[in-house]
Amino acid sequence: MITVSACLCGINCKYNGGNNLNPRIRKLMEEEEVILVCPEELGGLKTPRCPAEIVGGSAQDVLEGKAQVLTKEGDDVTRDFIKGAYEALEITKKYKINKAILKSKSPSCGTNKIYDGTFTDKLIDGIGITAELFKINGIEVFSEDDY
Ligand code: SF4
Repeated sequence: MITVSACLCGINCKYNGGNNLNPRIRKLMEEEEVILVCPEELGGLKTPRCPAEIVGGSAQDVLEGKAQVLTKEGDDVTRDFIKGAYEALEITKKYKINKAILKSKSPSCGTNKIYDGTFTDKLIDGIGITAELFKINGIEVFSEDDY
C-alpha cells in the first residue's frame, strides 16, 4: 500500500482546478492499493485556490513556527498547510503505510525542489511541508520522477 498525491492520479485538486496526471503513477492504482491524499484540500483550502509558497525558511521552519506559507496575494495559509500535512500523515499511519509518492515542486508535496518564495518560478533545493512531516515520521518519500 502506498500514499500518493491525488493530483498525480488525475484528481482535480491542483490550485488552478486542474491536475498533474502522470499515467505511470496512475497505473499503480491497477497494481497495488493506493491511498490518495491532497494535503492542501485536507487542510481546508478550496479548489481552485491562490498559489502559495514557503516564505522565510524551510518546511521544517514552517513546522516549528519560524516561517510561513503565503499565497501570491499575501494571505497567510500556514495553518492550513500544517493541518493538511498532519491529516495526510494520520491517514497514512492509519493504513500503516511506509512510503509515499508526492508531487514534485509543491510547497506541500515537493520532495527535493520547491519554489523559492518569490513567486517568480525560481526553484531551490527544498521539500514541502507534508513531505517533511512524512520524513520526520519515518515514511519514505519519492517524487513521481524518482519512483
Ligand atoms: S497539495 Fe499535493 S496533492 Fe494537493 S494539489 Fe498540491 S501537489 Fe497535488
